[in-house]
Amino acid sequence: MGCSGSKGEVNDTRRGTTTKMTCPVVKLSTGASMPQVGLGTWQSKNNECYEAVKAALDAGYRHIDTAELYQNEKEIGRALKEKMDAGMKREEVFVVSKLWNTRHHPDDVLPACQKSLDDLGLEYLDLYLMHHPFPWVRDNLLPINADGKAEHSDVHFMDTWKEMEKLVDGGLVKAIGVSNFNISQMEEVLTNGRIKPAVNQVESHPYVTCNRMLEFCTEKGVVMTAYCPLGAPGDLADHGLAVLEDPELKKIAEKHGKTPAQVCLRWQVQRGVVVIPKSLRAARMVENSQIFDFELSAGDVEIINNLNRDGRVYKWEWSKDHPQWPFNEKF
Ligand code: NAP
Repeated sequence: MGCSGSKGEVNDTRRGTTTKMTCPVVKLSTGASMPQVGLGTWQSKNNECYEAVKAALDAGYRHIDTAELYQNEKEIGRALKEKMDAGMKREEVFVVSKLWNTRHHPDDVLPACQKSLDDLGLEYLDLYLMHHPFPWVRDNLLPINADGKAEHSDVHFMDTWKEMEKLVDGGLVKAIGVSNFNISQMEEVLTNGRIKPAVNQVESHPYVTCNRMLEFCTEKGVVMTAYCPLGAPGDLADHGLAVLEDPELKKIAEKHGKTPAQVCLRWQVQRGVVVIPKSLRAARMVENSQIFDFELSAGDVEIINNLNRDGRVYKWEWSKDHPQWPFNEKF
């Protein structure tokens, strides 16, 4: 996995100037380039999502992360169309979507992907991920019982993966990958699949460093994408973390004249990880992209690595009793 090239020009609205920013790309096993910073869109709905994606594209972002679960693909499609009508080429933007847990049945994979494409108004996705390794029953977005447990189905993720491989054959997606897969599950796909996963998208921030997973992915030529790279601070009342309030991170940020958010993101890109911070605010989108003009020292990196703890935001405990629930294993 290597970082090279440059994309994007970012307007630094805070300083009222236009700063030429480069966003490096990582090379996928397919040979395609994936911008190392993308916009996350979970919990960005309807018009606010449309506005956010437009603002992100204006700010130079060329990587958008979505999923059927987020129910915002039509809005993202509207924003993409507007920008493409204004001259942005389809191949200039990297669009990621995900196959939801209720779509694992082999008969559902192609229709689910086609629905995402139709909603996004695109002819192909750059990357399509299996959202989780555990499958839920069909035809209901969130089949959760009164006792707080998900209704599972008995489809194995390898049967789903084989249908995803056909999406690549058919040209609907340029690359396929997984999300929330542990190392054993990835080994199974790498051993038994025809096409290897280009990416594993996992939760990672200073409280869940995923050093073991990163080492494994690097060795296998799989790119790791970090979701919740800021610890989902907007969700603090529910289940987000106060990563950005961490005193050690604050000290490092102060030393570099940066924000704790920028330090979290810089730490990831410096080790070859792709980040997809979510924001609805243009100024924060700019802040989150201004991470290529400073470098963390080996000492900074060691301090951040030592912040690791059992700080996972997304545990998907609804599926804790499923044999493929991934979080029993260390990431
Ligand atoms: P996140 O990116 O760690 O945090 C997002 C929160 O941080 C928002 O509340 C945002 O608020 C705030 N924020 C953004 N930039 C900030 C900054 N510079 N300073 C302070 N606060 C800032 O968490 P996430 O949205 O859960 O994860 C990112 C993306 O990963 C998602 O949007 C989604 O695309 C993906 N994801 C994937 C999975 C999966 O299972 N594969 C699971 C979860 C998420 P404002 O919007 O108000 O700026």
